[in-house]
Amino acid sequence: MSQRLNLIVLGKQGAGKGTQSTVLAERYAIPHVSTGDILRNAVAAGSELGQQVESILHAGDLVNDELVNQLVRERFKEADAQKGVVLDGFPRTIGQAEALEEMLGDDGIKLCINLDVPTELVTQRLSSRRVCQECGATYKDTDVEAISGTCSACGGDVIQRTDDYPDAIRKRLETYERDTEPLLKFYGARGLLVTVDGDQRPNEVTDEIMKLVHERGLA
Ligand code: AMP
Repeated sequence: MSQRLNLIVLGKQGAGKGTQSTVLAERYAIPHVSTGDILRNAVAAGSELGQQVESILHAGDLVNDELVNQLVRERFKEADAQKGVVLDGFPRTIGQAEALEEMLGDDGIKLCINLDVPTELVTQRLSSRRVCQECGATYKDTDVEAISGTCSACGGDVIQRTDDYPDAIRKRLETYERDTEPLLKFYGARGLLVTVDGDQRPNEVTDEIMKLVHERGLA
């Protein structure tokens, strides 16, 4: 078996993918690759890519497979990705999952971690989420940073992401159910799927994931 630790963190928006992916990337010393972050950064930078995808992101729709696959293909070429990656928000469709298999060849995905959280709870989490526009720190709407609009980490503006507005949340969750949920079967059929209860404290979720990775002899 190859030494590359390619992990996928799957789950609804608001299930905690970003939080868990960040911690796993740190623990295993591999990069956290979030297609959502790559696309949001492109929008913030006003690049050609950003201009192309801005309205799609704001509406909570999916960017087309070809474009996202190309971004990931490029990211895999970078030096830091040679020991593995934690994929967050990719793949999101069967087409992307098939493209990923082609990209990685035999050196494929080692585990797909499904963070299971009920829809009502993720809706609550997303509606109350506020983020710092500068450093990306996240807060709840009741936190002092959200009320004052100022990030305590960097002094940046704390805002609500437009794709966390109610209509966009509804659309993103519908899209998840239609396009992304079929991936559970896809990875289940390959014996690569594990499901973890995402409605626990973040460190408990991490412990459970790391135990599963360890039990499979992956790290
Ligand atoms: P996320 O932060 O993962 O929820 O992504 C934010 C937005 O970026 C999504 O609502 C999509 O518009 C877009 N996006 C991120 N990842 C993908 C992907 N794998 N395929 C298509 N669109 C994506």
